[in-house]
Amino acid sequence: MHDETRLLHSDSDDEPFRALTIPVHRASTLVFPTVEDFLTRHSRFYDGYSYGLYGHPASRALAGQIAALEEGSRAIIVPSGMAAISVVNLALLRPGDHVLLPDAVYAPARSAAEGFLSALGVTSTFYDPLAGAGIAKLFQPTTRLVWVESPASFTMEVQDVPAIAAAAHDRGALVAADCTWASPLGFKALRHGADVAVQALSKHVGGHSDLILGSVTVGDEALFRQIKDASRYLGLGVSPDDCFLAQRGLGTLATRLERQTVSAMKVAGALSGHPGVERILFPPLPGDRGHALWCRDFTGASGVFSVVLEPNRDAALAAFLEQMSLFRIGASWGGLHSLVAPARLDGSRSVVPWQGAGPVVRFSIGLEHPDDLIGDILEGLDRYRPLNRVASA
Ligand SMILES: *Cc1c(COP(=O)(O)O)cnc(C)c1O
Repeated sequence: MHDETRLLHSDSDDEPFRALTIPVHRASTLVFPTVEDFLTRHSRFYDGYSYGLYGHPASRALAGQIAALEEGSRAIIVPSGMAAISVVNLALLRPGDHVLLPDAVYAPARSAAEGFLSALGVTSTFYDPLAGAGIAKLFQPTTRLVWVESPASFTMEVQDVPAIAAAAHDRGALVAADCTWASPLGFKALRHGADVAVQALSKHVGGHSDLILGSVTVGDEALFRQIKDASRYLGLGVSPDDCFLAQRGLGTLATRLERQTVSAMKVAGALSGHPGVERILFPPLPGDRGHALWCRDFTGASGVFSVVLEPNRDAALAAFLEQMSLFRIGASWGGLHSLVAPARLDGSRSVVPWQGAGPVVRFSIGLEHPDDLIGDILEGLDRYRPLNRVASA
C-alpha cells in the first residue's frame, strides 16, 4: 500500500456506528461486565482498553496509522513532540548513562539534556551534526542513546543517519530520530537505521496550527513496552479530540506537503541571489550543502526553510518581519498559514560555532499563493536593505 492510501485508512472499528472517521470517546472510566474483567484490566494495557489515560479508540487508531507510515510495528501517541523526546530519554536512560545529541538539536531538547537529564545523572555530549561515521570517536562505554534530527530545526543540516546508526549499533547504543521536518512521508527513519522515530505531530501532521501531540514509533515489541511503561509512570495521556484532529490532518498531509514544497521551492528560488540574502538553507535546493544526502535518503520535503541574511541592525530585522502582511511571526511550522521565525544562533552551539554573520530567519510556507508570499518577502527585504533600494532606484 502507498503512503497516500495509508493516510486515509485506519483499522478503527466502532460497531455499530461505523463512521468513516475515527471514533471520539471522551472517557476516564471504562466499565467492565465482570469482576474478572475488572481485576485483569491491566493485562490490556498495551493493546486493549483499561482506563482512559492508557489509550482509547482514537489514540489507538492514530497510533496504528503512524506506525504504518513510519514502517514500524508500534507507536505511542503522547501529549507533545517534546513529551515524545522526553519519554524516550526517560525510558531508555539511567543514572550513569551517556547520550549523544547533534549540536543543532531542537533547542528545548538541548536544554533538557543540559538541565534535566544531567540532574538525573545522565551525561550528554553534543556532536557535529555533519560528523557521519566520525561520530564513532565520541562513544563512551556508557553511551546508550544517540539522537539525530535531520534536517535540523533552523539551520537545516542533513545528517548521515545510516552511518551514525551503524556506529551506534556497533557499540550497542540505540538511535532515536526526530523526523519532524520531513514527516513520516519524507523520511523513513527506521528504514535508515534508527530504532526510534519521533514526530511532533503538532507540525505537519496536525497541519492547522490547532493541536499539540507527539508520537514515538519503534519496530521492536520490547522497546515499545519499555517506552509505553515510561509513559504510564509519567501519566502521559492524550485527548481523543486532539487525536481526531491529527487523524484528520493525516488525510491531507501528502497533498499539503506537496503543495508547500512546490511553493517553498518557488519562494526560495525568488530569494536566491537577492542582495539582502547571504545564503538559503533548504536541502531540496540543488547547491544546498545537504542536497546530496537529502536526495539519497529522503522521499519528500516540506515547505520549511531558512535564510541567512546579510548583517544589519536589529531595527532593520524588526522592520522586515513586523510589517509583513501575510507572514506572521511565530514558532512552529507546517500549518496552512505561512509563518516566519527569526533565531539568535550566536552562542547556541558548543561544538561547531554558528558562522553566519547576519540573522537566520526561518519561513514555513503555507497554502497561500506563492507569488503573494514572494511579494511579501521582497517588500520586507526592501525594508531590511533601504540603502540597496535607494541605490537601485
Ligand atoms: C516543534 C518541534 C518539537 C516539539 O514539538 P511540540 O509538539 O511543540 O512539543 C520537537 N522537535 C522538532 C524538530 C520540532 O520542530
